[in-house]
Amino acid sequence: MSIPIIVTPKYETKIPSGKVVSFRPFLVKEEKVMLMMKESDSPREIISCIEKVVQSCVEDDTKVQDLSYFDLEHLFIHMRARSVGESIDINYTCEKCEKSFPLEVQIQNLSLSKEYPEETIVMLQENVGVEVKPLNADSIGAYTGEESDVLTLSESVIKTVFNDQNVYNFNDFTKQERVEFIESLSIKQIQKIVEKMEEFPRCVIKQSCKCTHCDENLDIEVEGLQNFFT
Ligand SMILES: [Zn+2]
Repeated sequence: MSIPIIVTPKYETKIPSGKVVSFRPFLVKEEKVMLMMKESDSPREIISCIEKVVQSCVEDDTKVQDLSYFDLEHLFIHMRARSVGESIDINYTCEKCEKSFPLEVQIQNLSLSKEYPEETIVMLQENVGVEVKPLNADSIGAYTGEESDVLTLSESVIKTVFNDQNVYNFNDFTKQERVEFIESLSIKQIQKIVEKMEEFPRCVIKQSCKCTHCDENLDIEVEGLQNFFT
């Protein structure tokens, strides 16, 4: 006698950066990791749980560490929709009366906060520039932490450095070379890099609802996994 095999369904979704990724829903083994996540209040630990869960549910050659944070968020939310349900219960605070009320947000309303930037290049001086990429899961901590660390942040969002002759992959340099490069920039140049990084869109759920306390009609935007799952 052998135990019947459970066939897990497969789904596809197009992540914000454009790739179509196939995935399966969460299984009981992922639910265990999710429970750990719910009990944690360390953003780094939560992100590492999300990375673990997403990587094990991806059914193609997608590597989680190569994805932007918003791709990761998108995948996680869609996997959750297929596993648990198409809606998430949150507490929303009304902008008018400032009281909070329970609200069910629909995952089908998930979209991007804005378009992808057309131009991802920042010129630092006449013949030297950098190409900026969105934050990934490892670098989001430098952005959302108590004190945002702009130097670490800038280092993690530079994709290439170029002059009029060559283009260099920033990650091909040693850690020390990368740090020296960042430290040689002016505050203005760092600001330009951070501003460019902020032009990348985020995952957001947009929905209309009515405040249960003051009856105000609200157009709400929920973003950030912490808001979705805590
Ligand atoms: Zn209200």
